[in-house]
Amino acid sequence: MVDLNKIRSKMKALNSGRQLDPTEFKPANVASGEEVNYYMAILPFDDEDDVPIYRNGQHWINRKSYECPRIHNDIDCPLCTKAFDTMKQYKEKEKRSNIAKTLLSKEMWAINVYMLDSKSNPENVRGKVMWWNSKYSVQQIFQACVESNPATEDGAFEPVAGGAFWDYKSGYIFNLKVKSKNGYNNYEASKFVATKHICDVVKKEDWDKAMESKINLSEKFEDENIDFLIDFSRSVDTLAAADGTFGQSDDNNSSPPESPPESSDTPNTVTPEVQEFNDMLDRPSKPKEESDDSEDLLAQLSQ
Ligand SMILES: [Zn+2]
Repeated sequence: MVDLNKIRSKMKALNSGRQLDPTEFKPANVASGEEVNYYMAILPFDDEDDVPIYRNGQHWINRKSYECPRIHNDIDCPLCTKAFDTMKQYKEKEKRSNIAKTLLSKEMWAINVYMLDSKSNPENVRGKVMWWNSKYSVQQIFQACVESNPATEDGAFEPVAGGAFWDYKSGYIFNLKVKSKNGYNNYEASKFVATKHICDVVKKEDWDKAMESKINLSEKFEDENIDFLIDFSRSVDTLAAADGTFGQSDDNNSSPPESPPESSDTPNTVTPEVQEFNDMLDRPSKPKEESDDSEDLLAQLSQ
């Protein structure tokens, strides 16, 4: 018996140029004025003292992703080196920024998530363990949580989410809020629901099951091909990259991925060695303090 669902997803992959992975979480694309909410617990690695985030970076060439050795293995990447060298030849901020956006790898942070089996979640993800290659803005929220103290801060009316957010007993449910900003998904309003620990919402047996279904994140990134990156970096049209026309014609060797690059949300790089270039990458503002609508959410969460 043929598995029609499998065939359909393979067919789709052939057309999109990118393999579809049913275990990969992709937040819904929202239209202007819309908002979609997801509620999830971030799963720990086997060593709970480890931060359960897998940093990765890719170059998008010809609608395929190639691991960037600079981000992945902390070694020189021929294409990133080419990008940095080219940027040095230009004084104009716009051209330098164009080069960074087109040729530098995009840094992402992969995590395992357990989507709460709750009516608050869209039906297609409820109760699933998935992996999610999260973005810079989300990473900032995670970092702020780790750096905060879990205790209620003096004078605060609401508890503060702080510490190891992936811990079953003391960690928190993460509310991913997807809004639209400049035509792209924006996640800056996401937050941990500070009044609910994971153990308040997820039954221990469901948690244990989720832990067993964890996805091996490193296996999701196996496209490293230094020889290709060397070849490509030699042939790359740096003038087109600087002019912002790179990847726009058929003569060109590269085109952006199917999904929007979401450039308003994510700078291409944040490693110290490229600090000099960060200013031109339109860093997103830090997540803003916002009015707390967690009362409603919590009512839904406990259903
Ligand atoms: Zn690179």
